[in-house]
Amino acid sequence: MPVIKAIQAREILDCRGVPTIEANLWLDNGISVTTAVPTSIYTGKHEAMELRDGDPLRYAGLGVIKAVNLINTTIAQHLIGRDPSQQGDIDRLLIQLDGTPDKHQFGANTMLAVSQAVCKAGAAMYHLPVYAYLAHKYRLVYGALTIPTPAFNVINGGKHGAGNLDFQEFLLVPSSRFRFDQGLQIGVEIFYELERQLINKNAIHSVGVEGGFAPNLFTNLDALEIIIQTIQNTNHQYGHDVFLGLDVAASTFQKGSKYAIKDRSQPFSGKEFVSYYQDLNDDYHIFSLEDPFGDDDWRSWIDLTMEMGQKVLIIGDDLITSNKERLIKAIRDKACTAVLVKPNQIGTITESVEVVKIAKDAHFTVMASCRSGETTDTFIADFAVGVGAEYAKFGAPSRGERIIKYNRLLRIEAELNPQTQGA
Ligand code: PEP
Ligand code: MG
Repeated sequence: MPVIKAIQAREILDCRGVPTIEANLWLDNGISVTTAVPTSIYTGKHEAMELRDGDPLRYAGLGVIKAVNLINTTIAQHLIGRDPSQQGDIDRLLIQLDGTPDKHQFGANTMLAVSQAVCKAGAAMYHLPVYAYLAHKYRLVYGALTIPTPAFNVINGGKHGAGNLDFQEFLLVPSSRFRFDQGLQIGVEIFYELERQLINKNAIHSVGVEGGFAPNLFTNLDALEIIIQTIQNTNHQYGHDVFLGLDVAASTFQKGSKYAIKDRSQPFSGKEFVSYYQDLNDDYHIFSLEDPFGDDDWRSWIDLTMEMGQKVLIIGDDLITSNKERLIKAIRDKACTAVLVKPNQIGTITESVEVVKIAKDAHFTVMASCRSGETTDTFIADFAVGVGAEYAKFGAPSRGERIIKYNRLLRIEAELNPQTQGA
């Protein structure tokens, strides 16, 4: 069996110019892999901690030299000589060496760079693409592998946008009856038309951090209206071919127990915000609502899921933070119906896969997601296919770090079904 010969990490930049970690890992049979981990503009309160240098003289304190040194010294010593297919053992070792519940000693960024590199090396050792290796190893997909339905973040608000929309993501979700390449085409065609609509309205049409437009609109409802008008201008039918999703990211504008949005002069209480979402759904037939409340406002989550959980996918991102304990609580309390999975929220592949398994066992829907601070690494696309995520959210169909992931899904689709393109 080949074993790990060396690992070498370095500081690189994400799509916003923020430092992040890249790692090369070599096996003693000559195989080598490279991987990089994403970062985020807004890290949920319950996410595992990132390790950053805090040195104000470098990258405004955001450097990751401490993390790089940890990988190249302490972690490398423990890794050399190990079999990379023993992902669980290696991840548990990292967790044990870190020894803190929120992973602040090593940092989830440090640990994921290693964990992801080990996973890629395990796949390479068996001459398998990463998605096939994950599928074979964890057996979370029954039957044939499929490509997740994409969710395109076409208008970026909140912390991802220009700052005048409260909701963070306005998403187009093509019907899952379409093949991935068809869904991608629908999303892209609507995205072209959305640009034309924004230009016609003299609204700003430059893009935000996730590649969606970041327009200067008056209210959050204006953004929904524009998307619906846009779809009506294409030959795709709203509510049949394509649906609307929202990532409200409500923690980013929660004040105490209230939620203040620009659509209304008075802030909403949790109960009022539940009614607001019900009205919104009556008017727009929303497909999915992510983080409709703050990350500890369990009461409102439970109320909303009771009222709307049968009709709308209620997705926990900042609520769950890819954390097994929080997912188990959400399942037990019926606080949502779906989980967003972002491996860097928790720090290892083993724990990310475990979260998917728990979700699937509870019949929760799984959406694999990239982060606002992405690199051109495509691991998350393979992860989404290999663990059988129903949906994949990689941003808008624009900006290289987003497109490379959608293109990776196209290539996987072609591998799984060579007839797809042009069929
Ligand atoms: C999200 O909130 O779903 C997201 C992808 O953004 P971020 O990476 O900023 O958490
Ligand atoms: Mg989110």
